Parts: sequence; C-alpha cells; structure tokens
Amino acid sequence: MTIFQRIIDREIPADIVYEDDDVLAFRDVNPVAPVHVLVIPKRAIVNLASSAPADDALLGRLLAACRTVAQLCGVAETGYRVVTNIGGDGGQSVFHLHLHVIGGRQLRWPPG
Ligand code: 5GP
Repeated sequence: MTIFQRIIDREIPADIVYEDDDVLAFRDVNPVAPVHVLVIPKRAIVNLASSAPADDALLGRLLAACRTVAQLCGVAETGYRVVTNIGGDGGQSVFHLHLHVIGGRQLRWPPG
C-alpha cells in the first residue's frame, strides 16, 4: 500500500483542496512552489504507463480536476504546470498515479 492510499483512506492527514467521487487533490508535503497540489485517482493505478484504455475517462477527469484545482488555488490566470512523473527515469517516488499542479511563481523549462 502506498502513502497516497493511506491518505485516501484517511489513515494519515492531508491538506485536501478538492475531492469528488473519483479524485482527491491535496497539497504536497514538500512543495516546490507556492502552489503545489497532487491530484490522484481514488482507484489505485501505478502510473500513466500502467494505465489502460479502460482508464481513459478517469484520466480525463484527473486533468479536469487539475483545472479546478488551479482555479481554487488562484493560479488559473497567472499560469501553472501539470506534470506526472513515470517510473525511474521519470523521477516517480510514490507509485500511485498523481498529477502535480505547480504554480504561484515563474517556472523554468526544461526541468532538470
Ligand atoms: P513523485 O516524485 O512520485 O512524482 O511525487 C511524489 C510527491 O509526493 C512528492 O512531491 C512528495 O513531496 C509527495 N509526498 C510524499 N509523501 C507525502 C505525504 O505523506 N503527504 C503529502 N501531502 N505529500 C507527500
């Protein structure tokens, strides 16, 4: 079980900013910007690479939730980044699919 499953199950606390039947969004415990929110499916999927066509509607809802989170956190107009890390080279550290919504400062490209 991942730490994110324990957050879904309310076994450990999180600063939740958005929730619906399929999606949970909460602030990253180690933020890299003034706004840094993790958007996750309540159903456990390891990462984008391990998702299946049957998950495509859920993947769409995750992206839509990122849009809502950006609005709720006040960065929809100033700009923000949505990123998902996949596997070892992608820098994934928690193996429950999550999208980072990062904003509130000028972001640089490319990432390291
Ligand atoms: P990844 O490196 O897998 O793309 O991102 C995992 C993210 O989860 C990291 O940014 C890390 O700070 C965050 N994280 C890890 N453990 C916890 C936790 O217990 N609570 C919260 N809110 N975030 C966590």
